[in-house]
Amino acid sequence: MEETIVLRSVDEAQAEMLRHFRPLEREVVPLIEALGRTLAEDVYADMDVPPFPNAAMDGYAVLGDDVSQAGPEHPVELRIIADLAAGYTTDLKVESGTAVRIMTGAPLPPGADTVVPFEDTDEQHADSLLSQGRVKVLKANRRGANLRQAGEDMRRGELVVSAGTWIRPAEIGVLATVGAAHVRVYRRPRVAILATGDELVDVGQRPGPGQIRNANGYSNAAQVLAAGGIPLQLPIARDTEDELHARLEQGLEWGADLFLTSGGVSVGDYDIVKKVLVSMGSMEFWRVRMKPGKPIAFGHIRGVPLLGLPGNPVSAMVGFELFARPALLKMQGRRSWQRPIIQAIFTDQIRDRSERRQYVRVIVESRDDDFYARLTGEQGSGILTSMSKANGLMIVPEGQELVGPGSRMPVLMIDWPEWNNGL
Ligand code: AMP
Ligand code: MG
Repeated sequence: MEETIVLRSVDEAQAEMLRHFRPLEREVVPLIEALGRTLAEDVYADMDVPPFPNAAMDGYAVLGDDVSQAGPEHPVELRIIADLAAGYTTDLKVESGTAVRIMTGAPLPPGADTVVPFEDTDEQHADSLLSQGRVKVLKANRRGANLRQAGEDMRRGELVVSAGTWIRPAEIGVLATVGAAHVRVYRRPRVAILATGDELVDVGQRPGPGQIRNANGYSNAAQVLAAGGIPLQLPIARDTEDELHARLEQGLEWGADLFLTSGGVSVGDYDIVKKVLVSMGSMEFWRVRMKPGKPIAFGHIRGVPLLGLPGNPVSAMVGFELFARPALLKMQGRRSWQRPIIQAIFTDQIRDRSERRQYVRVIVESRDDDFYARLTGEQGSGILTSMSKANGLMIVPEGQELVGPGSRMPVLMIDWPEWNNGL
């Protein structure tokens, strides 16, 4: 068996791996289905938005010159010539001494150049003149007040969402505004997930002697979903050549864009997984200078990239975070694939003699205008609950042995859920 072992830093391994990925094909989807996807074309405004000048408040469309001197002591009385709701237009012209009662969003009637809000008139007062078709303006409004100008949000022909943008609810709203009923996005990557190990049983089963439940198949599938991919959980593969072979074939038939395996790639392992991978494609076995998750396999099986993650549940998840997630984002045409890294003050102490870069599970909280990070608990690569409690991975540089309380450290924010702010 030919097995190439390569020693790499995390950055080298990431760069080497990402080199092999390109954005996938593009497809057109109905607008709402584009949420969470990546836009694959530049989208331009097809008209000015708003398309016409309109009222920014409920009130009276008037001539600014009529109301510029109005005040409680010298109210200005105007005759109401029309009532205009959003969605309607009028040909009646506002002239000096007249007003159109207008609702927010209704087009400014001809002649008018200013909107006086209801609160600046006698509209709500007990002795209001409304029933007589008249209104008193009680406060000065400068000309042009409470209007929205045509094109103040978007100009016809302007680039409003560019290719490579991750589509959030706000982008959906902008796209709807410019009439993009269907949008071109990158195809979602199909990821075949294979958990390997004689000791594994599925989630619905009770583990017998020597057995454990398959966590990685699920955590990795969930990570794929969260990163915009389509996961296929292949049945657990026993550590036999036939079974591994059959599972990988199944993934190829399904049309996987990426294989994610877990287990069987570490140095001390029984060689079956590596042997099958090597027999089916071109593989490299990396020792990445990181903790957790040193052994990573990367290569191609009949042209389909395969990322082999370590079996320990935390290593499998961290390995996904650092390697698979960026690859999935790149396949989806995203312009950047790095999670935010913040600076936080560490409040615990850790000491580790390893030469590897450490990713330490921490809880980041905001207090007194600063971020503080504390350990989630034991850092063993089998302690999956410490991953579940974490919102960040504190990055300890290669070779740094001690991180004491008060150290300011970079933290990769893997999740940033709502703060518990005591409400
Ligand atoms: P391996 O990389 O196959 O040597 O596995 C390393 C450790 O991870 C062993 O303790 C395995 O039992 C455990 N492990 C491997 N695969 C999984 C899995 N899918 N779910 C939970 N634990 C696993
Ligand atoms: Mg194993």
